[in-house]
Amino acid sequence: MILATRRACQPTRSGWQREMAEAVRSPRELVTALGLDPSLIEGAARAARLFRLRVPWSYVRRMRRGDPRDPLLRQVLPLDVERESHPGFRADPLGERAATTAPSLLQKYRGRALLLATSACAVHCRYCFRREFPYAEHAAAPRWREALAQIERDGRIEEVILSGGDPLSLSDGRLAALTQALGRIAHVRRLRVHTRLPIVLPSRVDAGLAAWLSGLKWPVVVVVHANHANEIDGEVRAACAALRAAGATLLNQSVLLRGVNDDAAALAELSERLFEAGVLPYYLHLLDRVRGTAHFEVDEQRARSIAGELAARLPGYLVPRLVREIAGAAAKAPLPPRFAT
Ligand code: SF4
Repeated sequence: MILATRRACQPTRSGWQREMAEAVRSPRELVTALGLDPSLIEGAARAARLFRLRVPWSYVRRMRRGDPRDPLLRQVLPLDVERESHPGFRADPLGERAATTAPSLLQKYRGRALLLATSACAVHCRYCFRREFPYAEHAAAPRWREALAQIERDGRIEEVILSGGDPLSLSDGRLAALTQALGRIAHVRRLRVHTRLPIVLPSRVDAGLAAWLSGLKWPVVVVVHANHANEIDGEVRAACAALRAAGATLLNQSVLLRGVNDDAAALAELSERLFEAGVLPYYLHLLDRVRGTAHFEVDEQRARSIAGELAARLPGYLVPRLVREIAGAAAKAPLPPRFAT
């Protein structure tokens, strides 16, 4: 049963910023609202000390009441197992410290630079590869100034990727200030936005955001992040339609997560729902091995088999590329699908 009590899913109607401010932060509140076993609360509270719980009500309303295995809940509910150590799982599995060329700026791949526009997210995904990212060190520098100076210095940077945190958690005014500054750098020819907000808080895509997007000087690619078909409801479809109407090309990246989307049927349904929303599947990432996330890992052989089954079910344009990110590599490493014999 989809969560439907008025008390538990009180909608907020005063704009996305208020919805963000009113996001659920307490394990007790989340467990109670979903009618889950209260014994979950203690472990969730312990794990939330490592990485806080945060989830907007609009996302909670898409979860099934009374189901601890709900694929949306699993993405956000802290669990005691996050406190376990596992070999190979560490704070910075992608070597992002080494890729930092200025505060808030990462340069991993040729021609592109990733600007960490903010540390804030509307939701805290338990598998996040930046859950231990030292945002405070980056915020210590005057915001964006050094990052913009580095982009200006490096004439090879043709594409800037706004990331974070979630860049769309910035106000329209802050976004406009940032893109105006980028617009003065002649060699920047494309803008990409990596965001989960149109999925978890679709009210973010309002008239102000659409006006900002449609006023940009570059072709813009918005890469959203959905992992399961249940995340895509009518509000998300409307948000995606508004982004497209504002001129954005929409792609999706997912993470292959045990207990969330680790079967071909679930991924096929996700691709179909995304397509109905005007979004093409782009990447299916193997889990980045950050501390506290081992319980989400799907091993490479099984991932390739799932990708093979997915490819056998769907037309090619609905099949995301299965990839692994390797610290220091020149590009993401594609993993070939394994087909059943
Ligand atoms: S929205 Fe992205 S950056 Fe934020 S917690 Fe989730 S995965 Fe991490």
